[in-house]
Amino acid sequence: MDTTATLVLGTTNAGKLRELAELLTPLGIPCCSLAGLDAAVEVEETGDSFAANAALKASQQALALGRWVLAEDSGLVVAALGGAPGIFSARFSGAGATDSRNNSLLLERLAALPAAAPRSAHYACHAALSDPTGTIVAVSSGICGGLIAHHPAGAGGFGYDPLFIVPEYHRTFGELSPAVKALISHRARAMRAIIPAIERSLHPRRPPAGER
Ligand code: IMP
Repeated sequence: MDTTATLVLGTTNAGKLRELAELLTPLGIPCCSLAGLDAAVEVEETGDSFAANAALKASQQALALGRWVLAEDSGLVVAALGGAPGIFSARFSGAGATDSRNNSLLLERLAALPAAAPRSAHYACHAALSDPTGTIVAVSSGICGGLIAHHPAGAGGFGYDPLFIVPEYHRTFGELSPAVKALISHRARAMRAIIPAIERSLHPRRPPAGER
């Protein structure tokens, strides 16, 4: 494998990995996960924003591996909860958090609000590309607006997807196909915005995907 041309995806979240690989591979951007990379480190998410955490994950992992790394930090932002769970989305329900416990806590928190409280929310994704020295060479972001359902629906996606209604489709991401999520999600939007920089950095002699 030509490791200089293969992008390392700096996440251990299986749902994210699957979606990132599905977005990048068809464009001819070879990528791999951290699995089996002995020098990989666990990066502490000490930043106070999605952007700061994405940059930390990309640069620290790249420095440890000596490889190009694409990392992202993402989460759910619920207006009526003051933006929670936000950057704490993965660990919303505390130590040992699982998707199902996070979803239950989200419904509990919303149920404790007045019935008229808005259920609007958005997903946010910030991506960062680091060169092998740990220098961030490109960043991007994307959001996807929606509403929080009263009950989970569907088994697709991951995380909060069974509760996240996409208004245009009147369905949760749990019910919608991966193809729809790959068109309109926060992650898809952030990836589309950073792909030109990935291509310029890793495959400088290749024409961009749109021109091949
Ligand atoms: P991170 O790994 O610190 O970026 O946290 C990401 C967390 O945000 C995930 O564990 C989910 O709880 C939530 N999240 C981010 N993107 C999605 C998505 O596309 N669907 C559902 N939940 C998501």
